Amino acid sequence: MHINKVVIIGSGPAAYTAAIYAARANLTPIVYEGFFSGVAGGQLMTTTEVENFPGFPQGIFGPDLMINFKAQAERFGTVVVPEDVVSVDFSKTPFKITAKKEIYAHTVIIATGATANRLYVPGTNDEEFWQKGVTACAVCDGAAPIFRNKDLYVFGGGDTAVEEAIFLTKFASKVFLVHRRDELRASKIMSEKALSHPKIEVVWNSVLVSVEGDNVVKSVTLENTITKEKTTREAGGVFFAIGHTPNTKFLDGQVDLLSNGYIKTVAGSSKTNIPGVFAAGDVQDHIYRQAITAAGSGCMAALDAERWLSEQGIH
Ligand SMILES: Cc1cc2nc3c(=O)[nH]c(=O)nc-3n(C[C@H](O)[C@H](O)[C@H](O)COP(=O)(O)OP(=O)(O)OC[C@H]3O[C@@H](n4cnc5c(N)ncnc54)[C@H](O)[C@@H]3O)c2cc1C
Repeated sequence: MHINKVVIIGSGPAAYTAAIYAARANLTPIVYEGFFSGVAGGQLMTTTEVENFPGFPQGIFGPDLMINFKAQAERFGTVVVPEDVVSVDFSKTPFKITAKKEIYAHTVIIATGATANRLYVPGTNDEEFWQKGVTACAVCDGAAPIFRNKDLYVFGGGDTAVEEAIFLTKFASKVFLVHRRDELRASKIMSEKALSHPKIEVVWNSVLVSVEGDNVVKSVTLENTITKEKTTREAGGVFFAIGHTPNTKFLDGQVDLLSNGYIKTVAGSSKTNIPGVFAAGDVQDHIYRQAITAAGSGCMAALDAERWLSEQGIH
């Protein structure tokens, strides 16, 4: 039976950074990049300009950045398999990873990312205004010129929604925080920040019905959940802040998760509760969720895996 030294599951910045480091350490990593589980190449494949990834002063198109990541990993001998991992068996070593076929590995790096939750109403779909004014990441997209000095609508009611609304006040003429209830879910301190902010107005008891526009978003239609009254308002942008879902289903409970579903890692490392299994990127990060932090943690995972192999005497 052939046992691989490192198998990496995922294909975003975390997976490919782990692959670059592991390949350069002669560990010949196998990367399962996914097929139906998400877009191969990760979340940045679904965006346009990435302006905050260091090294690209003019910005870089998200899919181009990911093509570069993959090419750099392949240059050093990474083998990329365009399949989903459907299950794993971490109960004994070597670990078993099942995609179309089963393979075995001494170490596994899980870098399957997270999926930003979206509202699917007319106007928000991929072929409509998604990424043409509708987005799920204020920190990533908020500074783009199309959002400057416009009325921006943030949907959500938790701490992240408030944080994103406050962030957007730097660029917007006004930020409307739309919440379906009459009270925010955010912590008291965050709620107070939103309610007292001169550029934020909370729209209570309301949901998004549709988004309209021409080439970009021009208006949103909201419905009051109590009166059922619908209103159409001028809008320059729609930001969903309704959470993320980490892609951990295929793990089937074999790795410890936090109560919010993200993989639990030992602080300051990529170690999970299973020795030899490591996690990197958004699948274990519910706080920062950026390409650069995902890449950084991918590097940590590869170095942790390399050290672990060496401690086991596997060269
Ligand atoms: C619209 C949008 C715009 C963004 N813009 C920016 C930005 O400008 N700057 C920035 O820093 N960040 C941005 N982000 C955030 C950034 O994309 C993420 O933080 C980053 O991609 C996380 O990387 P990751 O490696 O953890 O995984 P991801 O990018 O989430 O990729 C994981 C991939 O793993 C694969 N996968 C999942 N399950 C399996 C499985 N079972 N088997 C095999 N493969 C699997 C899928 O192909 C999935 O796409 C944006 C996010 C979005 C949604």
